[in-house]
Amino acid sequence: MTGFSLSEHVHRRFNPLKGEWVLVSPHRAMRPWQGQVEKPEIAASITYDPDCYLCPGNTRAGGVRNPDYSDVFVFDNDFAALRPDTPEGHHDDSGLLVAEAESGIARVVCFTPRHDLTLARMEATAIRRVIDVWTDQVAELRENPAINHVLIFENRGEMMGCSNPHPHGQIWAQASIPNETSREMERMRAHYDRTGRTLLSDYLEREVAIQSRIVCENAGFVALVPFWAVWPFETLVIPRRPAQTLLDLTDGERNDLADILKRLTTRYDNLFGTMFPYSAGFHQAPVDGTPHPEWHLHMHFEPPLLRSATVKKFMVGYEMLGEAQRDITPESSAARLRALSETHYTLADAG
Ligand SMILES: [Zn+2]
Ligand SMILES: [Zn+2]
Repeated sequence: MTGFSLSEHVHRRFNPLKGEWVLVSPHRAMRPWQGQVEKPEIAASITYDPDCYLCPGNTRAGGVRNPDYSDVFVFDNDFAALRPDTPEGHHDDSGLLVAEAESGIARVVCFTPRHDLTLARMEATAIRRVIDVWTDQVAELRENPAINHVLIFENRGEMMGCSNPHPHGQIWAQASIPNETSREMERMRAHYDRTGRTLLSDYLEREVAIQSRIVCENAGFVALVPFWAVWPFETLVIPRRPAQTLLDLTDGERNDLADILKRLTTRYDNLFGTMFPYSAGFHQAPVDGTPHPEWHLHMHFEPPLLRSATVKKFMVGYEMLGEAQRDITPESSAARLRALSETHYTLADAG
């Protein structure tokens, strides 16, 4: 198209993983901001908080006392959204009011006993132990015939609805395949059936050739701002080899994942000099006992911040009722993330 530029002109980009479009309006990045300003996220300054329900030895809201743990610690969520004892059931009124019983298991994973740390501030060797625990959890939950899908995720920061700064994530395992995974699976399967390759292998090959959306990489993994990113600084972490679940990663790939997670989250914190909030999680093949050659494990990072530690992107109006929209282009977001240091700002300040 003559005279058409992805960096200047309003356009829509297609997300092949979801089969959805996102509207990109590059010129709007310059508009003045008079909206809501959030509090910046401040990292905890104490290694142990007597009032934190996740710190070792403390009593949780359900009355259970945490052990005096010294490494990664996993427990069943006291107020789980999914319960293993749910009876089977089905509701259908006229084909329009349809419901199904859902059983599952929800767990909490404390990344470290240290209340003040984050993935960015943990050593890569400590992140590696978290990855080992995540992987062991998938292995264990896979053996449960009532579990077909395992979602591992982290909500970080009050902006994402997480009020406890203690570094932790969650695991929700359930009988059904949730919407997001299910939609990606359909798209991945169609691509695999057509080409014999995974969608993300072909996508990654293009991105590595183009380079403009790559944030950082190592032997096993690439972190990039996807061509179709919705959130201003959204990223995908993709293994170069099409692993289907965490269980398929080699020892070296687990180390590479720990390395890329530390580097990416450090860049995020350095972007606005804050404890950068996000929701992040792995999409992996269902553990439903059937082969999934179409799947390519990946991790999504979806951070809400727009232009500073205090200005958040709102998904309202057009985004809720029309489709996702962004102002700064994915290429300029990637360039900004790429330019940042991989030494955490607090360490740099201290040194
Ligand atoms: Zn704590
Ligand atoms: Zn995904």
